[in-house]
Amino acid sequence: MTRLLDEGRFFLPGPTEVRAEVLAAMTRPMMPHRGKAFEELFARLQVGLQQVFRTTRPILVSSSSATGLMEAAVRCAPAGPILALVNGAFSERFAHVARACGRTVEVIEVPLGEVVAPEAAEARLRASSFAAVTVVHSETSTGALTDIRAMQLLARRHGAMCLIDSVTGVAGIPVETDGWELDYVFTGSQKALALPPGLAFAVASDAFLAQARSTGSRGLYFDLVEFEAFARKSQTPNTPALSLLYAADVQLAAIVAEGIEARWARHRAMADRVRGWVAEHEGYGILAPAGARADTVTAITLPEGVRGSDVAASAEAEGYVVGTGYGKLRDRTFRIGHMGDHTLQGLEGCLAALDRRGGKR
Ligand SMILES: *Cc1c(COP(=O)(O)O)cnc(C)c1O
Repeated sequence: MTRLLDEGRFFLPGPTEVRAEVLAAMTRPMMPHRGKAFEELFARLQVGLQQVFRTTRPILVSSSSATGLMEAAVRCAPAGPILALVNGAFSERFAHVARACGRTVEVIEVPLGEVVAPEAAEARLRASSFAAVTVVHSETSTGALTDIRAMQLLARRHGAMCLIDSVTGVAGIPVETDGWELDYVFTGSQKALALPPGLAFAVASDAFLAQARSTGSRGLYFDLVEFEAFARKSQTPNTPALSLLYAADVQLAAIVAEGIEARWARHRAMADRVRGWVAEHEGYGILAPAGARADTVTAITLPEGVRGSDVAASAEAEGYVVGTGYGKLRDRTFRIGHMGDHTLQGLEGCLAALDRRGGKR
């Protein structure tokens, strides 16, 4: 049986810790999802989510995990080949989803921890024509941060839609949906938004939706044209995960009260603290290069003989949860998810616990 942790100790890079008040909101009674009370709830969520995404556009709300809106992006993208920028497990998943949806996929792959350089993407976009480019903003498996603004500009210049996974970006790292004129950007509830898993949110531009309308392979459940049409009526196409929407109602009010810029700054401060902690530890390093590091998650490389799974296990013995490395990086790294509602003070506790367990050299 899993031991219950005290609040402020769950530093997994997803799902992230959810505050008790937010969990409690899920016990509210059901309501009809075709009715005024629901429409009011949905409209309230829109106000908060629009601040989070920095947009005036409707937010598409899906009762799925984030991968649902990843697949929706591919299904609704214009016909033609897709260029996938791959630098870790989640960007690889995006490419895999595109192949599974019958797309021809060309991949630019870089070593784990790195990001695809804009020059490399541009060379490929110049060489042949693509319908869309898939990009992961914050690659949660490595902690690497891609410049989505630059990638969006490049994609547009070469006539491709830019499909952006900002699952561990949105609500923790600056994303300016309108300011950067993003074609399509999505996130999931269980990362920097600090909600339980099960919801996903996206914004699609007018241009993206206009061409989606003429795409024949959108399917039904993940048809973004439907999502947007219903969102404009403050509804969802199907029965939404109401209890999760109640939780989002409470959490978005807290996020708005904090202010999105203050939230970004808090994430930056936590990331800086983790980077400083790593620098104090001989043999420890940060997988992602300086200048391309996410403020939400850090993958920390370990000295010879120290395994990521051991670090995670010893943190657990101290009453804290951190992530092991992901996939191929399982034992070469461990990950701290410094995102969501965590504080600098709570993070100090986590780092101190890691030190007590022999992290200090
Ligand atoms: C967690 C995560 C996903 C997958 O989200 P699910 O909610 O498990 O579908 C996709 N991309 C990134 C970058 C993630 O961190």
